[in-house]
Amino acid sequence: MTISPTGSQAELAERHSHVLMRNLGTPLRVFVRGEGSYLWDADGNRYLDLLAGIAVNALGHAHPQVLGAISAQLSTLGQVSNYFATPTQIGLAERLAAMATVNAPERSARVFLCNSGTEANEAGFKLARLTGRPRIIAMEGAFHGRTMGALAITANPAYRAPFEPLPGGVTFVPYGDVDALAAELDETVAAVVIEPIQGENGVVDPGVDFLAKARELTTATGTLLWLDEIQTGIGRCGDWLASTSSGICADIVTLAKGLGNGFPIGACVATGAAAELFGPGAHGSTFGGNPVAAAAGLAVLSIIERDGLLAHVREVGDRFAAAITALNHPLIAQVRGRGLLRGVVLTRPVAPAVAAAALDGGFVINAPRPNVLRIAPPLNVTADQLDGFVAALPGFLDQP
Ligand SMILES: *Cc1c(COP(=O)(O)O)cnc(C)c1O
Repeated sequence: MTISPTGSQAELAERHSHVLMRNLGTPLRVFVRGEGSYLWDADGNRYLDLLAGIAVNALGHAHPQVLGAISAQLSTLGQVSNYFATPTQIGLAERLAAMATVNAPERSARVFLCNSGTEANEAGFKLARLTGRPRIIAMEGAFHGRTMGALAITANPAYRAPFEPLPGGVTFVPYGDVDALAAELDETVAAVVIEPIQGENGVVDPGVDFLAKARELTTATGTLLWLDEIQTGIGRCGDWLASTSSGICADIVTLAKGLGNGFPIGACVATGAAAELFGPGAHGSTFGGNPVAAAAGLAVLSIIERDGLLAHVREVGDRFAAAITALNHPLIAQVRGRGLLRGVVLTRPVAPAVAAAALDGGFVINAPRPNVLRIAPPLNVTADQLDGFVAALPGFLDQP
């Protein structure tokens, strides 16, 4: 494939600084091409992409079959508005409904398709309001997106404060703390919203029983259990949903990141009574459910299935965590997370410098917290590719 460069990285970064709003920082690199797990910058340097657009490119860059599905759909039919329907939209909704009810196959489910994670969570928020109950319980450390409703259930004060007042009625409890959740929960609570693993907070796992306990407690008060699987879902943690292994069925599951392999898409799946809360006209999205995004989603799901990637994710993810631990490096405190969503916890807050050294060394990772490196590669990354990073990591750790 030929690339026609439009400038060096330095020139492009300069133009970026003048024209993009300043919510975006200075770009760390300007990338011009991706293929599988590799990226190339505007100066021609190659990188192993172990971040995948933040857990988005589940099948790597420019996957030929996803590309084929998208272009076939776009050249057949691209958008019809929600006065009408398309077979891909219906097919994807059926797949997602089945995914959300795998632990309770008799339970009904309905899907709202949209274009991003935060938009999926807005739908969840509106469903919660339609219960008639005024309160929502969210978790300390939570990240659910940047639009006003999603921000109201996001914990980070730096994200929230400038935009207050936010939609109200939200109480935060410590993540993973069953007693704190039980103490706040009563029949005024519409929904409890939980990430099965807190990705943005540094790949924090609440412990094995938390989701099952939250299910028990919410069932007892008639409260909706809302799982934000936007980062953890679609195979990222080695199951279709990270919550599947807890044996539970949530009332609301929100999805986005990995579902379109880079094509923007989001989904809010509701089950049981929650699935009936939206009546005609209650919510909408012009692009939501468009057949091109739905074709991307369907292609991603069928390729993950066909290529046995859930088992692959579990295998290479465990192997990777063991290999990092076996480095016995004095700066590494712990490896946490599941499947191919991993946090390498450092003993000192030098993760941004380590991530920068890794980037200079040809590996894309990030530092969601000052002391945590996040690794979220394409689900089809090879064991050899991960080994290459493990071998290089001590060099990056020793640099700062
Ligand atoms: C990324 C993310 C979101 C927001 O998704 P956007 O597509 O950026 O709006 C919400 N929840 C979780 C858990 C996420 O990781």
